[in-house]
Amino acid sequence: MLTGAGRLARIRVRGVVQGVGFRPFVYRLAHQYQLKGWVRNTSGSVDIEVEAAEKAVRNFLSDLEDKAPPMARIESVKATFHPPKGYTGFQIEPSLSREGQYQLVSPDIATCDDCQREIFSSTDRRFHYPFTNCTNCGPRFTIIEDIPYDRPKTTMRKFRMCPRCQREYDEPLDRRFHAQPNACPDCGPALELVDSGGKLVEAKDVIKKASQLLKEGKILAVKGLGGFQLACDATSDSAVKTLRERKRRPSKPLAVMITDIKEIERHCLISAEEKKLLESPQCPIVLLRWKQSSDISKAVAPNLKYLGVMLPYTPLHHLLLKEAGLPLVMTSGNLSEEPIAKDNDEALRRLKGIADYFLMHNRDIYARYDDSVYMVEGGQPITLRRARGYAPYPIFLPFKAKQILACGAEDKNTFCLTRDGHAFLSQHIGDMENEETLQHFENTIELYKKLFRIELEIIAYDLHPDYLATKYALEAGASSSLKLVPVQHHHAHIAACLAENGVKERVIGVAFDGTGYGADGTIWGGEFLLADCKDFKRVGHLEYIPLPGGTAAIKKPYRLALSYLYTLLGEDFDLAGLPLAGLYPAEIEIIRRQLKRKINSPLASSAGRLFDAVAALAGVRGEIDYEAQAAIELEMLAPDEIDSAESYPFSIEDEGGMRVVKLKELLAAVVEDVRNKVAVPEISLKFHHTVAEIVTEMCKLIARESKIKRVGLSGGVFQNRLLLKLATAALKKEGFNVLNHRLVPANDGGISLGQAVVANFAEI
Ligand code: ZN
Ligand code: ZN
Ligand code: FE
Repeated sequence: MLTGAGRLARIRVRGVVQGVGFRPFVYRLAHQYQLKGWVRNTSGSVDIEVEAAEKAVRNFLSDLEDKAPPMARIESVKATFHPPKGYTGFQIEPSLSREGQYQLVSPDIATCDDCQREIFSSTDRRFHYPFTNCTNCGPRFTIIEDIPYDRPKTTMRKFRMCPRCQREYDEPLDRRFHAQPNACPDCGPALELVDSGGKLVEAKDVIKKASQLLKEGKILAVKGLGGFQLACDATSDSAVKTLRERKRRPSKPLAVMITDIKEIERHCLISAEEKKLLESPQCPIVLLRWKQSSDISKAVAPNLKYLGVMLPYTPLHHLLLKEAGLPLVMTSGNLSEEPIAKDNDEALRRLKGIADYFLMHNRDIYARYDDSVYMVEGGQPITLRRARGYAPYPIFLPFKAKQILACGAEDKNTFCLTRDGHAFLSQHIGDMENEETLQHFENTIELYKKLFRIELEIIAYDLHPDYLATKYALEAGASSSLKLVPVQHHHAHIAACLAENGVKERVIGVAFDGTGYGADGTIWGGEFLLADCKDFKRVGHLEYIPLPGGTAAIKKPYRLALSYLYTLLGEDFDLAGLPLAGLYPAEIEIIRRQLKRKINSPLASSAGRLFDAVAALAGVRGEIDYEAQAAIELEMLAPDEIDSAESYPFSIEDEGGMRVVKLKELLAAVVEDVRNKVAVPEISLKFHHTVAEIVTEMCKLIARESKIKRVGLSGGVFQNRLLLKLATAALKKEGFNVLNHRLVPANDGGISLGQAVVANFAEI
């Protein structure tokens, strides 16, 4: 045991520890404890050697984790002790590159308080400079082309630092030491404002001019961190409606950017957890309870009681919001479901006809990156869309994984690459229904493979033969020696839930979504599985109901309502007294015949479709223009007081070992309530309670035989916060341990994680 003269500690720190001000932090800490030695970046870690008296070394080690800079995410700190070498000072040593090693890449992070102070301080040299950043904030993932993360490997390489910026960059004690995107008005990127024809708009102060245009009701395309956004005055009905028309997005909710928490409180209720999330370095969109008194246009989120709100997260946003003095709609710069536009010429081309003006700049975006979306439920932040601020930070797996690419599903696609204990879940890619999104998917896979030095062994994919992601997987598999592993959709949902909760044991998996390709070729979506990370057994489901017109029925919930009625209550069911009766009389007859003759009416056991049908039956909505709109509006209509409600009857039948939830009584009871003019909010609440009861009763039956008391809830239907709340409470009351999603979306955005996990354990 060494004492007095001290000892040498050899330390290896892993995690997001590069490009986040970690070395200067170590440098300062070493000085504080008067330690001698060095620190350096390697391809896979930050390595440190320090020597001093034992106590100082111990303090240093505990501070390393406790006081790390805000953007650092420490995965592990390992120290070994050795005899001292007699160092005389403390140095930052040159980086060391090791073949095949990789490091975690930091996501882009919202402008820190120090940088905010600078851009609003008239005496600062970065006063009003929209590209201000430091080691604690700014772009990272969106500008990096390869590792190690150094300026020549980012889109900042074309800007040569001025002497003052260079001095900051070189000085270990400066906040901008090795801040790769460091820049100032003398040497860095610059803004420009152009009209829809690409012609430069002359202005002494570009931000002021842009704000003025926004105040006049114009629509601006603004180049943000990971792509262009479309901005307009959120308090102006006409501006919002114009934006909707031009973007061809009739009613899907839009996000709003609001200048600070105090101003947000004027429009929305905020809990302590929501405030924390809004102000976090990730700065996501958070769905907040929208106050009736808010003057934000109802057209921003029609029929919804929650508003998607975020704070400004780049200096450009801060300056624009401050100058405009308005809440601004800030939505992705694209036409309906295409990927977000990122390059200047691309934006001018693709957003022509949508934006009146373009506020752009010459710092290129390498990776497209949408805003992340969260809600807080049960005091927990829950991911609804995972992108900016989170990806490409990995999900940590409870096991060491093979090198796998999981291609994900069709809608809200993400992919997932694994190696070691890391699952690199991609940022939200989008709906894989057009060439642009497929291209984005392929490019982003290549970027992740390069950044994380992944040598693929296995490709996992969904069973659905028509998914573009599946076709991609099969093609990639055919032209290589990679092993292909198909993974059933709902098994992947549950496996994703297990993985993010660090659970490997078998659970009762409740996978409720719109549709997914079943193991038997039918459409599943209201599934009860006994599942672990390796395999699953389907032990129950909602009863099958035909979808007249196939997927076309999904866009027209009234078709689903008719199908449920005619299938469950008889083909001569009388629509009298129902809101449906007067609608589409010609079509009703066609649908009835279609069902009778079983023409293009595939069977589905879908929970999402049940919500749609009940919403249409109750007169909430017969046709939709964004996914799950009818179900969401039904949820929104439920009252705030949710206790002691009644529920509708249903029954569970054992069909040869398979438990099937029969919905006839439920439908009949809803019909009776609708005919008796029971208020829709009451119907909505009763229905939500019923679904929670279905989940609980089924789990009780399954638990009786399997002796499993742990339930995993997954699938897009569990983004319904009322259902999540009711089902979780009911299950807990029955003694179940409930797992739900927090880190990855419950919807198909989380599927790729589950696919990767299942593929990892597949016997191949
Ligand atoms: Zn900063
Ligand atoms: Zn400069
Ligand atoms: Fe799904």
